[in-house]
Amino acid sequence: MHLGNWQLDSLNGGLFWLDGGVMFGVVPRTIWKNVAPPDELNRIQCANNCVLARDGRHTVLIDTGYGGKFAKLDRRFYQMEEGEPLIASLAALGVAPEDIDTVVFSHLHFDHVCGATRFDDQQRRVPIFGRARHFVGRLEWEDATGRAPELETAYPMEDILPLYEAGLMHVVEDGQEIVPGLRCQITGGHTRGHMALYFESGGQTAAYLGDICPSTVHLRRMWHLAYDTYPLDTRRRKPELLTRAADERWLVLWNHDPRVAISRVAKDAKKEFVAVDTTARN
Ligand SMILES: [Zn+2]
Repeated sequence: MHLGNWQLDSLNGGLFWLDGGVMFGVVPRTIWKNVAPPDELNRIQCANNCVLARDGRHTVLIDTGYGGKFAKLDRRFYQMEEGEPLIASLAALGVAPEDIDTVVFSHLHFDHVCGATRFDDQQRRVPIFGRARHFVGRLEWEDATGRAPELETAYPMEDILPLYEAGLMHVVEDGQEIVPGLRCQITGGHTRGHMALYFESGGQTAAYLGDICPSTVHLRRMWHLAYDTYPLDTRRRKPELLTRAADERWLVLWNHDPRVAISRVAKDAKKEFVAVDTTARN
């Protein structure tokens, strides 16, 4: 898809299956099962739709999926894809890891950051995008590295620290332009430092909302993930963002949607948000 100077591609960073209960928080199963039918283990299918953005000056990657390092047991539990799904998707577009100069993490949960490292021949975790500057929101970095006991299991430090130790990790502030035409915004909600990313060019905007609204089945204003650390912030922030998306005709790049890669957003007769002009995920 073209957005002014940007060529934007939604890339497969790996399909997986997550418990339906945690994907819909306090919403009863009898309601969410109609929009996201669960399997016999009560799981729903999710994708990691990463974004490759190229404008001739920069080659940017938004989020990296879960990568290829998880042990067999974890892979089976989440029904993760074999190999390194994101690297295969990049290769299909003729892009090698060393072509990437900028990696941006919406936040540092495993399904967003673990795809940035792989094992070397001595089973050490090493950065895959070794020539890229890697960006994360300052608050997210503080929470991931702060060692608060209640957050300890949320962040895969064994995958995050090799990026830092290689000197690749940089923190950004709310509203910062990371490269020309790519701006970040701290949304909070999902995590305290969670960021949405905005591509802006030629008077148009394409938004990557991350996990504040991970898929088109999460468009209902009050629905949010049980994973959200600050649920009330999600409930406040998500409708604000979706209102702007509808009013300003943003394109939305859906992070965890297994069916829809890109759409616009509109309000229906009941003032709930719906996806329109959808582009199916390949
Ligand atoms: Zn996620």
